[in-house]
Amino acid sequence: MASYDVIIIGAGPGGYVCAIRCAQLGLKTAVVEGRGTLGGTCLNVGCIPSKALLHSSHMLHEAEHNFAAMGLKGKSPSVDWKQMLAYKDETVSQNTGGIEFLFKKNKIDWIKGWASIPEAGKVKVGDDTHEAKNIVIATGSEPASIPGVEIDEKTVISSTGALELSKVPKKLVVIGAGVIGLELGSVYARLGSDVTVLEYMDAICPGMDADVQRTFKRILEKQGLEIITGAAVKGTEALKTKAKVTYAPKKGGDDVTLDADIVLVATGRKPYADGLGLKDLGVKMTDRGQVDVDDHWKTSVDGIYAIGDVIPGPMLAHKAEDEGMALAEVLAGKHGHVNYGVIPGVVYTTPEVATVGQTEAEAKEDGLKPKVGKFNFMGNARAKAVHQSEGFVKIIAHPETDRILGAAIIGPAAGELIHEVCVAMEFGASAQDLALTCHAHPTYSEAVREAALACGDGPIHS
Ligand code: FAD
Repeated sequence: MASYDVIIIGAGPGGYVCAIRCAQLGLKTAVVEGRGTLGGTCLNVGCIPSKALLHSSHMLHEAEHNFAAMGLKGKSPSVDWKQMLAYKDETVSQNTGGIEFLFKKNKIDWIKGWASIPEAGKVKVGDDTHEAKNIVIATGSEPASIPGVEIDEKTVISSTGALELSKVPKKLVVIGAGVIGLELGSVYARLGSDVTVLEYMDAICPGMDADVQRTFKRILEKQGLEIITGAAVKGTEALKTKAKVTYAPKKGGDDVTLDADIVLVATGRKPYADGLGLKDLGVKMTDRGQVDVDDHWKTSVDGIYAIGDVIPGPMLAHKAEDEGMALAEVLAGKHGHVNYGVIPGVVYTTPEVATVGQTEAEAKEDGLKPKVGKFNFMGNARAKAVHQSEGFVKIIAHPETDRILGAAIIGPAAGELIHEVCVAMEFGASAQDLALTCHAHPTYSEAVREAALACGDGPIHS
């Protein structure tokens, strides 16, 4: 039996980042991970493999649609699916191996296996029980389904199955027009699949700025995705090599059944804490099955903490990482803090979509008449040069103080551009602060400045 200051259960972005910071702050740290590699959902079957496939399929799209116009002639590349998967796997193993290296560098013990917590201060893995002053639950989440839809990972698959299909399906139906469904739907549409996305709500990406929802849907449809909103999926039927999906149009009319080679279920994820023994320990859960924590990520049981997808809040890798870092500070007797008002969200399609803070509608719900500065990428020279002038930057600012309340960007490198706004918001900046900052030309970032100018006397290039 070994004894630690901290044992973290789960080596996803929440757990591994928490472990590294704990070790850096001088705490004797171990991580229990049952998966064969470190990095959790994000590195193994989430953020990283999906981005590898988004990149390779985007390159194909560029070759097919934009090369000739730039004077690059010749046969466009064909898809070697096996090699594309190998490239994706190599990207994953480089990243998971990187975490293993960081564990060794920081002298963090990786206890291999599945953990349970028999009592506060003890973690059981196989036949061994380890002691810890503090235990951190960072066990993440798993795919969720909806009634009538059973995932068999053959023809009715989760996002995990979508990252390792044996071939590119001719017909793919995606249930759910959220981030994961649209990213993976885009991948297969670019690779030649006929893709239909079914969404229960009346707009895609529920919760996002309505302007962005409309523009994003139009762009995806132009790229060949069929998107049916207001579709209440009633069930799926998995056949041997095919599947069927039936939905009821919410506006009325007969049920519709679609045939597909593959049905991808992308209806969200649910917290995962199975096998830990939390019920017997008396750890309080929310009514949505998440581990309930206080402002310092402590559960209802002293000495047991929780972070990441398993607790309330956006299910995002960087949110888990920030909680991991902040909790390590708390455990080391310092002050850890996460600003939940400034957590960006990104969809890594082309164009990318990125948001932070409040939407225009949310600011209005707070009783404000916010300033809204909008600038289209059509007026941005750099975007035009790379065939990516669709989309816009929208900045929401307080009507009296001009303080930035939020932003939404749809356009080239939106997932990078959003951080300029995040930093500004962290510093309590006004839209004018951004507008008065010199931005290099020609960059996409100039569109952010122009949107900030649009909150005041107006942009220059529109
Ligand atoms: P996880 O990453 O889920 O890690 C939990 C780990 O705990 C797992 O490895 C699991 O094996 C282990 N574990 C569980 N129980 C035990 C136990 N009892 N004993 C030992 N080990 C245990 N987020 C983004 O921010 N950006 C993206 O681009 C993005 N893309 C995504 C794409 C897809 C397809 C998916 C599915 C998710 C994506 N996400 C993305 C979400 C992101 O992956 C999660 O928010 C993030 O991984 C949560 O981190 P975590 O540390 O809370 O848990």
